[in-house]
Amino acid sequence: MVKSDIEGKFALVTGASKGIGRAIALRLADEGVNVAVNYNRSEDAAHKVVADLEAVGVKSFAVHGDVSQVDQVQAMVSSVQDAWGRIDILVNNAGIISDGLLVRMSDTAWDDVMGTNLNGTFHCTRAVLRQMIRQRWGRIINIGSVVGIRGNIGQVNYSASKAAIIGFTKALAKEVATRNITVNTVTPGYISTDTVDVLPQETKDRIMTWIPQGHFGEVDDVAHLVAYIASERAKYLTGQIVSIDGGMAI
Ligand code: NAP
Repeated sequence: MVKSDIEGKFALVTGASKGIGRAIALRLADEGVNVAVNYNRSEDAAHKVVADLEAVGVKSFAVHGDVSQVDQVQAMVSSVQDAWGRIDILVNNAGIISDGLLVRMSDTAWDDVMGTNLNGTFHCTRAVLRQMIRQRWGRIINIGSVVGIRGNIGQVNYSASKAAIIGFTKALAKEVATRNITVNTVTPGYISTDTVDVLPQETKDRIMTWIPQGHFGEVDDVAHLVAYIASERAKYLTGQIVSIDGGMAI
């Protein structure tokens, strides 16, 4: 059995109240990582995740913050740093969709998706970075999407937000490479979650034809990859866009 090399570290996972973020929080806890659980609307769900994490034996608490709002992000990061003195691992997972064809896309649909997915990643990363630089250790792990690589009809806003995260990752990885901080993006394909499970059957059937493995992924497929990237074993991996999508991006 390989012993965890990140046991005792401190993580902040955004959008950890459910779905992929929740799975990432639980998987990091399996490595002995203490996890602050960010949520925006789902307070009760976030508290349940905290209870699940504490049951594993790590420290955890729920922390509110809309990642699109810079002042809320600052307050959230300060409260984690006040409680624990540090954040070693930031997982920028919070994300939304607001689908529709571009010709009919409202300013709100564009701004909301950019605000949460892209600006949220910027706000949270900037807020934790100075302290990571000081401590000479950090992991920034962004959750992108296969759609940021391939594009998708009805998701120009979402695709643009996730594609921008790729550029963000590569540029920042270069900026902080000598400080022992790695910056990577994981790009999931279609993962079985509340959002994907409710798609109409005919849409699911169409999507399935794009996936060489012929089925959707599970939240733990993403979580295992994030746990590896967070680990010391991945210390030479930076600036990378790692797909976990059953072959969809090939
Ligand atoms: P989900 O089940 O809808 O969960 C989204 C999470 O993000 C929730 O915990 C939600 O928190 C949080 N969130 C949304 N807006 C927020 C904001 N402004 N501030 C803070 N938290 C916010 O989604 P998911 O499917 O697990 O997706 C997680 C990430 O993976 C997203 O970045 C998504 O784009 C990406 N992704 C998902 C798939 C997939 O197939 N599921 C594929 C590729 C990429 P509250 O409920 O507390 O508001």
